Amino acid sequence: MLHHLFVNTNIESETIEVEKGISLFIFRLGDGKPHVFVISGIHGNEQTGVYVAENLIEKLSKTELFGSITIVPVANPPAFRCKSRNSPMDGLDMNRVFPGNREGTVTERLAAEIWEQAIQADYIIDLHSCEEECIPYVLALHREFSYVKSLAYKVGIPYVIESTGTRGQLFVEASREGIPAIIIEMGGKCSVDLQSAVRVRDSLLNFLTSLGIIQGYELESKPEFYGRIVEIRAPTDGLFIPKSFCGSEISEESPIGEIKNKNNITSPLNGLLVYIKKVMYVFKGEKIAGIATKLKH
Ligand SMILES: [Zn+2]
Repeated sequence: MLHHLFVNTNIESETIEVEKGISLFIFRLGDGKPHVFVISGIHGNEQTGVYVAENLIEKLSKTELFGSITIVPVANPPAFRCKSRNSPMDGLDMNRVFPGNREGTVTERLAAEIWEQAIQADYIIDLHSCEEECIPYVLALHREFSYVKSLAYKVGIPYVIESTGTRGQLFVEASREGIPAIIIEMGGKCSVDLQSAVRVRDSLLNFLTSLGIIQGYELESKPEFYGRIVEIRAPTDGLFIPKSFCGSEISEESPIGEIKNKNNITSPLNGLLVYIKKVMYVFKGEKIAGIATKLKH
């Protein structure tokens, strides 16, 4: 059982069986308001968020709380078990089907259950791993909704990037319903990026402190806000070799990488290199890096 895999089994959880053998484990800590909802494992191959959620459950179960936190560490158990982004049950990407459908497929039913739980909260935080090597960043509709911007500010992760707002994502649908909701992207796919995990866990503890739910964590936080990610794609097939690191500020025309013996790839704009691929064979049109530009306040 997943429950035994990732948490100390003497911490109580609520089990909701969506289909025989497929259950959501929901951890409720504290009670009353403010109420924060933290979810991870919507994509089954993204493990860093699951680790952060597990860390939070262990930490908060030993802490006095003035408010409540609901944590769902593995939102998509079949996909987590198969280490795949989409569900092996119906092929769906869970983060395209919110608010879900109680009469639908397994993924749609899981999403419907999660949606019901999530919309009861005052804040929703959804933990993911970025496509490539990436810095921890917040993805949010921060230009569209002021309450989302204010949540992103309080969480205090240094980079807040504008989402394209693709429908069916938990944070997009919740934001549109008036609930402050964000994604936090981290490194680590099919593995746990411990460095990202510790930074994000501490930011979340800091956020809970700023709400008055816990005491004792106060990190200095001054996030910068960025526009949407501009994707850099491979100009041709070949071996991609990066020449810059994620997290670096790069200027227009500066080198990002090369396709060995074929093309030098330069940045089309000034901005923050949010993610970049490692050395690997790529095909024409494949995403190799993402750059976002800082917004003026
Ligand atoms: Zn994801």
